[in-house]
Amino acid sequence: MAKITVMTELTTSQSQWFSRQVLDWYDKHGRKHLPWQQDVTPYKVWLSEVMLQQTQVTTVIPYFETFIQRFPSINDLANANEDEVLHLWTGLGYYARARNLHKAAKKIRDEYKGKFPETFEKVIDLPGVGRSTAGAILSLSLQQHHAILDGNVKRVLTRYFAVEGWPGKKAVENELWSYADQLTPRSRPGNFNQVMMDIGATVCTRSKPKCSVCPLSEQCVAKLEQRQSEFPFSKPKKDKPIRFVYMLMLNHHNSVYMYQRPSSGIWGGLYSFPEFEDLVAMQTYLDSIGLTDVDIDFQENKLFRHTFSHYHLDIQPILLPVPDMADIPLGVSEQTEIWFDATNITDTKVGLSAVAKKLLQDL
Ligand code: SF4
Repeated sequence: MAKITVMTELTTSQSQWFSRQVLDWYDKHGRKHLPWQQDVTPYKVWLSEVMLQQTQVTTVIPYFETFIQRFPSINDLANANEDEVLHLWTGLGYYARARNLHKAAKKIRDEYKGKFPETFEKVIDLPGVGRSTAGAILSLSLQQHHAILDGNVKRVLTRYFAVEGWPGKKAVENELWSYADQLTPRSRPGNFNQVMMDIGATVCTRSKPKCSVCPLSEQCVAKLEQRQSEFPFSKPKKDKPIRFVYMLMLNHHNSVYMYQRPSSGIWGGLYSFPEFEDLVAMQTYLDSIGLTDVDIDFQENKLFRHTFSHYHLDIQPILLPVPDMADIPLGVSEQTEIWFDATNITDTKVGLSAVAKKLLQDL
């Protein structure tokens, strides 16, 4: 684990007051009925923590239940086909999480005989598991003493201590880790971490924090100075670039042509439609498959924007019925190509990108 420099040393009574306040609140109001809190195991907590990254609890619950039903053990998940894992993840977004989950399950099967590792060094070594997630898994499932610092906890701590600067900046993050380390009690660290996430998600919300019911309000600097909306500081703004693509949907009756994207990059390993940056490139492709004289339906009213963390992608769908799919020599991709039954978008064998799913639903 990285060595943490203590920047502002808290007194024992400061730390104890803080943990007593939030643990009392946990006993009265903490969430104890979520599906991953029943018959707790490191596997369930790991799965829930990965799903909860960037995603709300209410969205995660049905996905979690489906995963646990389909993959009751880590070995079941490890032995599954990646396409099925991605398919069951469709709609949760940030697909690298699902691919890492699958890779980590295989590592646990192969190196730890399917038993979730129980030391911090081994857990943090799993694909997709960072310091906060490792701490959450081990403290929530095994009551080991580790601090956590997810987005919710960061918000509570930046407000409570009025920490200035964007929390994505290393120096600010280190300061927050230092506070989290000092505040996490030796006794009941799992309950403490759970309640910190709960307070961040339900009380110290991004907008309109409910300070009047917060157990920390008496000592919270942002509250005392009425500066809640200033924290946490936002990321310094940069305009996102815009990319444009034509997305070609060759269709024959109910089937559409799709290909599997390379495993790295956006929508890695998922099925999608061929993309072209301009009409010349698309026409060259159409010529190469013998479609030289075709009416292109530009579906202009269907132009839409999909936003990634680093850029906007403006997508112009093009629907092109073809007379006979068997006559089209496939070859747009070196990856797997399929004629997909558009009436069956719940097909569990095929993981669809969010955009492909939307286009199929609109068809
Ligand atoms: S008092 Fe208000 S701003 Fe401070 S931690 Fe509680 S909810 Fe957040």
